[in-house]
Amino acid sequence: MVDLHGQYLNIKSDINQAIQNVIDSSAFINGSHVKDFRNDLKKYLDCKHVITCANGTDALQIALMSLNLKPGDEIIVPDFTFIATAEVIALLNLKPVFVDVTPDTFLMDLEQVEERISSKTKAIIPVHLFGQCVNMEELMRIANQHNIFVIEDNAQAIGADITVKGNKYKAGTVGHIGCTSFFPSKNLGCFGDGGALFTNDDKLADEMGSIANHGSRIKYYNDIVGVNSRLDTIQAAILQVKLKYLDEYIIKRQKAAEIYDELLSGLDGIDRKSVV
Ligand SMILES: *Cc1c(COP(=O)(O)O)cnc(C)c1O
Repeated sequence: MVDLHGQYLNIKSDINQAIQNVIDSSAFINGSHVKDFRNDLKKYLDCKHVITCANGTDALQIALMSLNLKPGDEIIVPDFTFIATAEVIALLNLKPVFVDVTPDTFLMDLEQVEERISSKTKAIIPVHLFGQCVNMEELMRIANQHNIFVIEDNAQAIGADITVKGNKYKAGTVGHIGCTSFFPSKNLGCFGDGGALFTNDDKLADEMGSIANHGSRIKYYNDIVGVNSRLDTIQAAILQVKLKYLDEYIIKRQKAAEIYDELLSGLDGIDRKSVV
């Protein structure tokens, strides 16, 4: 779907140098490359905290683990998404409550979200897809009214813009937590697995950083049961180079979408919705 090799050839010397730098430093776990990438991503997204982790599925799991939920608590998710969104809910003994997507966007139907909220609903996970974002102004209104957390599954939408009350935000920074994946074919992909969480909430950031690091804030002091989920240092170095091209990659995807739109226009039985 994405010409990863062509993408690499365009920035080959920068990427090779970034990988070489990590090898030369022999700082293979965390270290300055991971920290620098986190800071660059924080600036790009204009959000307060970025926590990196091993993949997008882990990001969703860590987000849910940070909310202090009980088995059986309900999480509302769309029925049209990658398995990971619902999988982590079941893995944590929480209950996925599915809502359908709207046929014109394939995004979660917010009317159904309101209908499915119960006293056990603790979080809603909107999934932004195909360059379109869920109406976050409306979703946050619903969530705040019921005191429910919103975790944006931003795996397919990093770099997209969302307007809330006239202000522009980056997708993933409007809900309480945003999760993303750096799987190679995503908007911002590395050369293996990678993921990240975003938040503007200091307490959630502290909690999620600790969970991703064996429940530890100070080395060898493990306060809670966490997981081992790190962004690999070589991947962080690659992502630092590629982040500079993210906006360009998005424009190229939009141009490709325009070509599909044109070629598919006027065909019987095909409804098109231009999202560009
Ligand atoms: C890719 C993806 C994920 C999972 O990311 P991984 O890095 O593969 O674990 C989760 N949600 C959506 C919508 C995705 O597209």
